[in-house]
Parts: sequence; C-alpha cells; structure tokens
Amino acid sequence: MSIQSQIISLRNELPEGVELVAVSKFKPVEDIMAAYEAGQRLFGESRPQELVQKYEALPKDISWHMIGHLQTNKVKYIAPFVELIHSVDSERLLAEIDRQAARVGRTIDVLLEVHLAEEESKSGWDRDDFEAFVASERWRQMANVRFRGLMTIATFTDDMAIVRGEFEQLKALFQEQRPLFGEQFDTLSMGMTDDYQLAIECGSNMVRIGSKIFGSRNF
Ligand SMILES: *Cc1c(COP(=O)(O)O)cnc(C)c1O
Repeated sequence: MSIQSQIISLRNELPEGVELVAVSKFKPVEDIMAAYEAGQRLFGESRPQELVQKYEALPKDISWHMIGHLQTNKVKYIAPFVELIHSVDSERLLAEIDRQAARVGRTIDVLLEVHLAEEESKSGWDRDDFEAFVASERWRQMANVRFRGLMTIATFTDDMAIVRGEFEQLKALFQEQRPLFGEQFDTLSMGMTDDYQLAIECGSNMVRIGSKIFGSRNF
C-alpha cells in the first residue's frame, strides 16, 4: 500500500479521539510530504537533529513530536517549535525543558515516559522513582512545562499478555495521577505498529505508528 493509502486506512480504522502520530524517523522528506498530502499533520521523530532539519524543510502547519530519548544538551534545538515531547524520563531533563521553554517564551507540552517493559535497555522512568518524583510535587514549580500525560514503550515480544499487562499498568497509573495534574493531563501515548490495536483496547488515545505507514526502516 502507498503511504497515502496507509494514512487514509489508518484514519478510518482508528476510533474517534485516538490521535495518530506518524513516526517518520529515518525517512526522507518526500515520504513525509506523501503523508501530508493525505491530510496527516502530526509527525514524530526520535533524533533532535533530524527533527530540526525536517522542521526547517517542511510546511509550518506540521505538529512535530519528539518521541525518542532526549539528551539535556539537545533540548535547546527543539524548544522553539516542538509541540509535544513524549520521552521525558528525568527531573533533570524536565528542568532543562522548563528553562529552554522560558528562554523562547513558550510553554512546552510533555508526556512522562514510564518504563514498564521487561528489557533493561528500554528508556523511561523507573516506576518507583517516577512515583516518588510525582509525590514530591517539585514539578509544580516548572511554570513553562505543561504536563499532558504518560507514555510507555511495551516489551518487544510476541506474547501479547505481557504487552497487555504493561498497557493496563500505564492506564491505571494515568487514572491515578490525573486528579493531581488536572484537566490538561489528558494524553495516554501507547501503541506502535505491532501493538496499537491492543493499546487502544487498553485506553490509549495517541498511537505512534512508523513502519506500517512508511515501510521498514534501514538504519
Ligand atoms: C520508532 C518508534 C515508534 C514507531 O515504531 P513502529 O513499530 O515502526 O510503528 C513508536 N514509538 C517510538 C518511541 C519509537 O521510537
């Protein structure tokens, strides 16, 4: 299927209220334009430098999401335009996002990434550290950060019971914390090409889909 038909068929398939982030990492701007022409405006990238290059090259009504691990020293490059950072996994990174957002006169939307997967290699906050940070309420001082919700990357496995367990845990955490963060805490980012249907069943309202739209990636 072409990129355009994939976008159209996904849009028909996704329930109302579920947002589609088209993950365009490692893909050329021509591929992004094909999705754009099918009406897609939300794109996700995993490397700051690539995100900046694509932002500069492409139409300005695209919403750019940062979904990959973000180093503190790279925040300044994306702070002027990024719409949502999915991959916030430490207090130090949050503090830098707050500082850079203030510098460019913006409020930056973030999701807190929680590590629930079995693999050690996966990114995200360890659950205990995460809960301790939320309980500390230090995040209330970060005036230029808007806390929008949670994100996770599930274990890479064919065993869908494991994946379901992780999605259900994230959903439960989200519901538990929502009253603390308030109304704008409304986004649960979970689900990729291989598990987005399950993620939606478990309450996801933002899926990050790459290879199903753009084909497999050559690194
Ligand atoms: C690459 C990536 C995706 C998309 O993965 P696909 O399996 O190609 O859909 C989603 N989320 C994150 C954080 C990624 O790095």
